[in-house]
Amino acid sequence: MKFELTVLGCGSAVPTSVRNSAAQVLNVLERHFLIDCAEATQLQLRRFHIPYTKINHIFISHLHGDHFLGLFGLLSTLSLQNRKGEIHLYADERLKKILDFQFGIMNMKLSYTLVFHALSRKQELLYEDDLLTVESFPLKHRYDAPASGFLFREKERLRTIRRDMVDAWEVPIAFMQNIKRGEDFVTKDGRVVANRQLTLPAPAPRSYAYMSDTVYREEFAEYVRGVDLLYHEATYGRGFAHLAKETFHSTAEQAAMLAKKADVGKLLLGHFSSRYPTSELLLDEAIAIFSNTFVCHDGDVFDVPYKKI
Ligand SMILES: [Zn+2]
Ligand SMILES: [Zn+2]
Repeated sequence: MKFELTVLGCGSAVPTSVRNSAAQVLNVLERHFLIDCAEATQLQLRRFHIPYTKINHIFISHLHGDHFLGLFGLLSTLSLQNRKGEIHLYADERLKKILDFQFGIMNMKLSYTLVFHALSRKQELLYEDDLLTVESFPLKHRYDAPASGFLFREKERLRTIRRDMVDAWEVPIAFMQNIKRGEDFVTKDGRVVANRQLTLPAPAPRSYAYMSDTVYREEFAEYVRGVDLLYHEATYGRGFAHLAKETFHSTAEQAAMLAKKADVGKLLLGHFSSRYPTSELLLDEAIAIFSNTFVCHDGDVFDVPYKKI
C-alpha cells in the first residue's frame, strides 16, 4: 500500500548541476500527483522512472517560474503522445490565462481535456476519492504570487478481518462488511461476539504536507498538525535570515520550528538557495530544533509507512 514521495527538484529559483527547481511526485496507492512543475520536470520524470502518463492531477503552489515553467513542456508532450484522459490542474487562476495565451499563440489544441481548478485564498478541499483527500491552504509569500500549501491525507480504513476468528464463529460472508465497519456479531443461538475478537484495527491514515514558498508563521502549524511527513522550504540558513525575510522565504531553523510546533512525524527540507552547494549546514541548523529532519536531493524517495499499531 504505497504512500511514497519522489523529489524531482529540491533547488530554488536558480537550478544547479545537482538540483533542479521545485517538483515532486506523490504516489498514493498508485495515484500519482505532481506537485509543482519547474522547468525540466519532464526530464526529471524520465530520469527517475516515474510513469508520468499516469499523472492525472497537477498542483501548482504559486506562479514563480521555479514552480511552474515546466508545465508547458509537459502538457505539450502529453498531447504529442496523444493522451486522451483528463488532466486536472489546480493553480492560481491567472495560470489559465497564461496557458490559453501560450497555446493560443501556438495554435495548439491539446489531445486531452485540461480541467482547470482555480485555487482560492482559503483552506479548501480540492480533491476526494474513496481513499484520500487533498486540501489546499494559504501560505504567505510575495503579494504578487500568492502561494498555497497542499495536504494529502488517506481516509480512515475499515478494520481488518481476522480470518481464523470469523471462520471459527461462522460469520456469513454477507455480514463481513458490517464486521469491517466495527459491528459485533450475534450467533444463531444469540451469543454476542465482540468486534475486537473478530478484527484488528486499521492502521492510522497517512498524510503528507507540502509548504513552499512561504515565510514562517507560527499559526500555519495548524494546517499541518500531526502529519506524518512535512516538506517545508528552507531556502536559507541562519546567516541569511535577513534575505529570507526580504524575499518572503524561510530559514532551515524556521522550517524546524514549524515542524516542532505542528508535532509532525518527519520533516524534509528543500528549495535550497544555489548559494549552498551542499545542504549540511541547513540540516545541522534544523536538527538542533527538530531532530527527525532530513534534507532532499533530486531523486530521493521517501516512503511513509503505516505506524505500528
Ligand atoms: Zn520558489
Ligand atoms: Zn516563490
